[in-house]
Amino acid sequence: MLPFNRPYISGKEATYLAEAMESGRLEGDGPFTQRCQDWLRRWSGAEAVLLTHSCTAALELAALLLELKSGDEVIMPSYTFVSTANAFALRGAVPVFVDIRADTLNLDERVVDAAVSPRTRAIVAVHYAGVACEMDVLAQVAQRHGLMLIEDAAQGLLASYHGRPLGAIGQLGAISFHATKNVVSGEGGALLINDASLTERAEVIREKGTDRKRFLRGEVDKYTWQALGSSFLPSELTAAFLAAQLDVAETITAGRMRIWQRYHEELEPLERAGVLTRPSIPSGCAHNAHMYYICLGQGLIREQFIKALRELGIQAASHYEPLHNSPAGRRFGRSVGSLSVTEDLSGRIVRLPLWMGLQDADVEQVVGSVRMAVGKVGSVRAVR
Ligand SMILES: *Cc1c(COP(=O)(O)O)cnc(C)c1O
Repeated sequence: MLPFNRPYISGKEATYLAEAMESGRLEGDGPFTQRCQDWLRRWSGAEAVLLTHSCTAALELAALLLELKSGDEVIMPSYTFVSTANAFALRGAVPVFVDIRADTLNLDERVVDAAVSPRTRAIVAVHYAGVACEMDVLAQVAQRHGLMLIEDAAQGLLASYHGRPLGAIGQLGAISFHATKNVVSGEGGALLINDASLTERAEVIREKGTDRKRFLRGEVDKYTWQALGSSFLPSELTAAFLAAQLDVAETITAGRMRIWQRYHEELEPLERAGVLTRPSIPSGCAHNAHMYYICLGQGLIREQFIKALRELGIQAASHYEPLHNSPAGRRFGRSVGSLSVTEDLSGRIVRLPLWMGLQDADVEQVVGSVRMAVGKVGSVRAVR
């Protein structure tokens, strides 16, 4: 079976892990954490970067920074991972779900303004598949209404919007190093802080609500409980693993991009035949080949299609179930406007295997299997 994902190991991870173990310093914020944060700051140009144990943690830290009150609202796409909504709902805020664009599956910037209410505090832009949201428009809406603009850039490492790195455009950005992302540490994440006035409070929240960071810098002679916080630090072992991955992050992205391009070329005839649509990348968006997905046309039932691929030895995957229709989404959130694009495309998307080490022959096998699966489960019209 050709797996959907296989995490890439560069080879240096074991060396750095051994180094961290021998140093005897295993808790967070050691030299490897610093090294990862420096890398991320160099790449993004963020004011400050705080490594976290997941992107979920980075989003929760962001939500704590907003000091949300019960009933405050945060606008976000319904088509996203649960963490985007959980982070704010945990603080008593209401996720306000809006529709996505059909071309990128990103938050539709044209419907955000209509979702703003007197209770709105923030907009969360989720950069799906490492393709940027229309950040200029979102930034204008946020500024006009005095809202925070937060980027869920979980999938966005080394991608950019008109030259600006994802995660470094809004006031806050969250990145993931989960094993399914491009650059990984098993579990892992980072918060990018682009507004210097938030940095000190973010450091306190991340250190269990204490000023331990200032204590370690010698600015205070003991550390005490200052604010609501939690433990958001990854251990040095996680950071050591991640440092080895960041060393080769550009190589990983380039390798994935070759595979992405290959899919894109090979699947063009099927798009032309009206069987499926391929991703489209707006101009100004430099993506990072995080994902290759197709959207099935009329006459193809997704679950049958994925099953047919599995029978041909290919592991493919659907993706997000819209949050606005989920049990918790109904309970904690509300929707504004039609979510017809979300409901339509979330039922037709299929993600294909994409990982470092996937060979050209593998891509050809996947594309050949896609063709066969279309023939097998498609209506006569779709096959033609
Ligand atoms: C992966 C992902 C997350 C969660 O990342 P973790 O590091 O697993 O917490 C959040 N949002 C989006 C859009 C993701 O793709």
